[in-house]
Amino acid sequence: MLRRPHDCDRCGTTIAPGDEYAAVDGIAPDGELRALLCVECAAALSRFLDGA
Ligand SMILES: [Zn+2]
Repeated sequence: MLRRPHDCDRCGTTIAPGDEYAAVDGIAPDGELRALLCVECAAALSRFLDGA
């Protein structure tokens, strides 16, 4: 759960505490990648990872 509002790292939508969101952790060539995504972008990412 978020303690403070955070902007979606993809589209910039504000994610308020209490909103659903996705936290994504990964490794990128230049280091660790950590992103908070709104529900819409999380769904888009899921579709991308599924190759759809
Ligand atoms: Zn978003």
